[in-house]
Amino acid sequence: MFVTDIRQLKYQEALHDHCGVFGIYAPGEDVAKITYFALHSLQHRGQESAGIAVSDGRKLRSIRNLGLVTSVFHEDNLNKLKGFVAIGHNRYSTAGGNVHQNVQPFILSTKYKVFALAHNGNIVNANELAKKLTNIHRTTTSDTEVLTYTIYKAKREKWKDKIINAASTLKGAYSIVACSKKRLYAFRDPWGFRPLVIGRLGSYYVVSSETCALETIGASYVRDVTPGEIIEVDRNGLTTLGQIAKPNLKFCLFEYVYLARPDSVLNGELVHNVRRNSGKILAQESPVKADLVAAVPDSGTSAALGYASTSGIPFGEVLIKNRYIGRTFIQPEQHIRELGVKIKFNPMEKIVNGKNIVIVDDSIVRGTTMKKIVEILKKSGAKKIHIRVCSPPIRWPCFFGVDTPERKQLIASEKSVEEIRKFIVADSLKYLSLSGLIKASRQSDSSLCSACFTGKYPINVNYNFKKNIFEKEAT
Ligand code: SF4
Repeated sequence: MFVTDIRQLKYQEALHDHCGVFGIYAPGEDVAKITYFALHSLQHRGQESAGIAVSDGRKLRSIRNLGLVTSVFHEDNLNKLKGFVAIGHNRYSTAGGNVHQNVQPFILSTKYKVFALAHNGNIVNANELAKKLTNIHRTTTSDTEVLTYTIYKAKREKWKDKIINAASTLKGAYSIVACSKKRLYAFRDPWGFRPLVIGRLGSYYVVSSETCALETIGASYVRDVTPGEIIEVDRNGLTTLGQIAKPNLKFCLFEYVYLARPDSVLNGELVHNVRRNSGKILAQESPVKADLVAAVPDSGTSAALGYASTSGIPFGEVLIKNRYIGRTFIQPEQHIRELGVKIKFNPMEKIVNGKNIVIVDDSIVRGTTMKKIVEILKKSGAKKIHIRVCSPPIRWPCFFGVDTPERKQLIASEKSVEEIRKFIVADSLKYLSLSGLIKASRQSDSSLCSACFTGKYPINVNYNFKKNIFEKEAT
């Protein structure tokens, strides 16, 4: 967190999401179960709560709870969600924000209006928007509620007109799915920070954070929701309702590095290939003599394969991951995070003993995990450990939907690469260059956000790092 004031702290916690969203309009299909399987594929984008809202045209029902998709839903409760339009959400929150009332989709229910909305991103002017919501009794600390009421309060009667009117007041990163009783909506901020794709399931449409969910449910990829585009799906098919602002793509470079699943396609590139390319480029930029190239599983695997193929050093596994432990990056408490590393990876001593090993990972955030990994490998008899990181040092926090710790906890914000090497007690440490990462992504520099590496934010976030608060509405 970047905040000292407790009220601001709570609000900030709720603003920080990195989530998975899914929507479907398919009369005659079991939309709840299809959404369940899609959310299952998007589980990596949020592991703290899950929710599905379904409408049968008259009633909108929802199931939302804390926990993984498999623990929130079961045959019995999914069978109660009958209808033809559905949206779903996997949520990821920071400490204190992971409470039941913040679980999405957010449901707005008044005498005349019913609406469900699920959101991946971070509305940087949520504070300003919240102040304009007079006569609204807020029940959550989430910016999703602010977003939903901002749409509800917007001029005009129909939801599509309300969305068009409200969307231009939103600033920040958002990939949104929403549904009324009879229609599905999806829209994306003009910068397109977070992914959002359209798929086709038979004669119907679905919308998803990532393409991996399309494949799971047997849908085919149609196209991306273009940055700033607002779409509506109903019995007449898919319609583009409008454009929020001129598109100015600043896609999150970190999606390629870590956030997206390797089998998803982002902007035409398979994420696995991007990570593999980044490993190849890193091997050219920072070669080293070693017996074995290994990954920190699973996020470093694709890049380690690339590093091994270019360096000619054999690829092997040295760490076995307990796949039932959550990502350490998203554990909220430091002491849990440290414990998490010990129970997450088990080194194979018979392979490690006496070897010089290159360990490849996607990124280093706080350095705690990598320090523990080096420690357990050395205790297992490794001669030398060379760390290769397939992204540049993360020096700046994200304000666009990725939960990063406060700046001073980002190890690269305060330490040089050599100081980090000493901290993690590695024999060498090298990062991929920014130009190398951009080259690996095959995207143009101007179409990417790389602010957590460079500090150059595509939107003026007006964040006061000394006071740890948003000072005023972003421009
Ligand atoms: S600051 Fe980093 S994590 Fe955030 S959107 Fe930009 S590239 Fe992605």
